[in-house]
Amino acid sequence: MKGGKLIIFSAPSGSGKTTIVKHLLAQPELNLAFSVSATSRPRRGKEKNGEHYYFMSVSEFKNHIKADDFLEWEEVYRDNFYGTLKSEVERLWAEGKNVIFDIDVVGGLRIKKKFPQETLAVFVKPPSVDELKIRLKKRSTESDDKINMRIAKASVELATAPQFDKIIKNYDLEVALKEAHELVAHYIAAGQKEEE
Ligand code: 5GP
Repeated sequence: MKGGKLIIFSAPSGSGKTTIVKHLLAQPELNLAFSVSATSRPRRGKEKNGEHYYFMSVSEFKNHIKADDFLEWEEVYRDNFYGTLKSEVERLWAEGKNVIFDIDVVGGLRIKKKFPQETLAVFVKPPSVDELKIRLKKRSTESDDKINMRIAKASVELATAPQFDKIIKNYDLEVALKEAHELVAHYIAAGQKEEE
């Protein structure tokens, strides 16, 4: 597999990484395309198959694991599998795009390890776990149980932040969007991470 850059945004859910990724996708000069992940979790709200995720059953997902179709995969929550299909990255690279990922911290770090030269891995840090709780409740697309499951995972995820190339603090969204844009633009233009 060979092609453009891989830009990874990982964070606990509710940190605002999806908003940041959407903002970056809207910047034409970055030439980004979103890596649509496969998942076995149920569809939420207005999510569309092939746009937000490739939705599939647990057994379909397991067949892809057996066939070695994934670049990385993770059982993020029980029976909720998520993974990046190799074919997805190959498709976007063949279109000449840089690929942007909105994935969990374990998956993000796995991709960085597989493609160390081509990857910029960014961790989005929320102000606090309490603030995460508030944001997830506001989103109100899920039950309290599911929200609590995500909160429990957040503390573990926060501990992985130092393994990323960059940490963006999402305390003020406008500031975070600007910082993310500059970071990615610099990496794509220079082919370098800032400190290099
Ligand atoms: P959600 O259910 O809120 O869409 O996503 C739950 C978590 O799974 C988020 O942290 C999201 O970034 C992560 N996720 C989404 N796609 C992938 C993927 O392809 N691989 C991995 N490892 N995690 C993913």
